Amino acid sequence: MTELHSDCASCAGLCCVELPFTRSADFAVDKPAGKPCANLTGDFRCRIHDRLRESGYQGCVTFDCFGAGQRVTRARLDVALFPLIRQLHELLWYLEEASRHGHTADLLKETEALAASPVIDPLQIGELRGRVGARLGEISERVRGRSREMRRDLAGAKLRGQDLRNVSLRGRLLIGADLRGADLRTADLLGADLRGADVRGADLRGALFLTRPQVAAARGDRTTRLDLDRPGHWT
Ligand code: SF4
Repeated sequence: MTELHSDCASCAGLCCVELPFTRSADFAVDKPAGKPCANLTGDFRCRIHDRLRESGYQGCVTFDCFGAGQRVTRARLDVALFPLIRQLHELLWYLEEASRHGHTADLLKETEALAASPVIDPLQIGELRGRVGARLGEISERVRGRSREMRRDLAGAKLRGQDLRNVSLRGRLLIGADLRGADLRTADLLGADLRGADVRGADLRGALFLTRPQVAAARGDRTTRLDLDRPGHWT
């Protein structure tokens, strides 16, 4: 079984080297791909690990390689493959999630084979991503049944206490939305941008395709109900 959780202790800091940053609310500085972050130590540790948010590196708090880092490190693969394998591991994670509700074994096998390939064509990933997205959509509709649509831009929306069960919020911008006490059980949250969304008291149990990075980017606390592990920075 492919590991789909990051294990930084088994990785040579690939996300801190191979990925680019753009100076923004998520990163304090610009960094090109292939250049080690200035905060990376010689033994692949982060010297500001315990103060990333205060130091302007919120993007590092929410990033998840879905296990691609340890795969590339352990197999001594070309580190340039890391961003591509990370995309494939993310697809594997979604397919694993979806397998609880429908048939994904064929796509899981195909995605795993591509991730294990010594040569990966980014165009193949794009084509595969389209088919995975379509399958996830079919499974989501089957699980949710007929449900209302929400408008696309919900940034800052006041959705406190709303019944959002079974609603598709796929790809929606929910940046800074007030979702306190909202019921999001079986809502489709594939690709929804939850940065800064207030999910205190919200019920996210059974939400479809909710990832660890999405949860880490939201603002929750001990009253938030969810199936994933609670981020350490939630209080
Ligand atoms: S700040 Fe730390 S976690 Fe973020 S890229 Fe740099 S070394 Fe890695």
